[in-house]
Amino acid sequence: MLNVVLFGPPGAGKGTQSENLVKKFDLVHLSTGDIFRANIKGETELGNLAKSYMDKGALVPDEVTIKMLESEVKKHESPKGFIFDGFPRTKAQAAALDALLAENNTEVSAMLALEVPEEELKIRLAKRAETSGRVDDANPKVIQNRIDVYQRETAPVAAYYQDQDKYRGINGIGTIEDIANRLYEALEA
Ligand code: ADP
Repeated sequence: MLNVVLFGPPGAGKGTQSENLVKKFDLVHLSTGDIFRANIKGETELGNLAKSYMDKGALVPDEVTIKMLESEVKKHESPKGFIFDGFPRTKAQAAALDALLAENNTEVSAMLALEVPEEELKIRLAKRAETSGRVDDANPKVIQNRIDVYQRETAPVAAYYQDQDKYRGINGIGTIEDIANRLYEALEA
């Protein structure tokens, strides 16, 4: 299996590039943010809980997120692989993902980390707010909080994969196509 962790700060382009990777390698796309938003829309219990964190730009608690991700992975019979978008965001989530994949006799193939400077992220998120309808894109304070949470809790996850020699840093500046090609090259190497 080809199991890709697509990593990077809010606004780095994970969602956009996931679409390209899904098409190119025929992977199952699991975006924890998208799954939470679908639950919010469907007014499920999980959605109501997630919303209280997401609207502030905070992380949904690990226990909840990990359980949700596990049940999503189990929905797929024999996929060619997964692209994990927005997960893992903490070291505890990374350890849980390793355990889950090991149970299925597979593992994370690589972490592809989109690298984009903070100033550019703020510009992209403000622009996305015009069309996304996302509460967490609309407020500069919430955007700043998401970036701070990323630096504090999520950035250390990169070291977890560096220790396993699976980390690949990708320049996230350029056209969508340029960046897609960099990702393909990193996976085909
Ligand atoms: P972005 O990366 O642009 O912030 P996402 O759609 O990936 O957007 O995530 C939106 C929000 O969903 C996060 O700010 C967080 O509240 C919640 N979320 C998504 N994935 C996770 C996760 N793995 N762990 C905890 N919370 C998450």
